[in-house]
Amino acid sequence: MTATWTKLRDGSWGVRCEDGLAEGKTVSVTRKDGTTSCATIQMRVWGDGQIAIYSIVPNARDGHGHEMMACVECGYSGPGVKMATDMSGIRAPVCRRCDDGPYNSFA
Ligand SMILES: [Zn+2]
Repeated sequence: MTATWTKLRDGSWGVRCEDGLAEGKTVSVTRKDGTTSCATIQMRVWGDGQIAIYSIVPNARDGHGHEMMACVECGYSGPGVKMATDMSGIRAPVCRRCDDGPYNSFA
């Protein structure tokens, strides 16, 4: 099914799509205007077995329609932020400064 954006209880954006998606999975999310962008599943917030709502790994946008990844540790977004995999296998963006913290890059 098509994933769509939804507001979470804390005011941040999440996605609504089929239930059973793994954390760290990237989904293509369709906006109301029909354009799509990618989001990375962070955590399942709610689900009924068919449809679920997930929080997503935070992203910032650079103003040109491109998605810039924001570091999950310090919130920095810009050059040097890349996807890294932590010890539990969850992929998340981290900046160069935080990369030698809990996240180990295998990219
Ligand atoms: Zn950082």
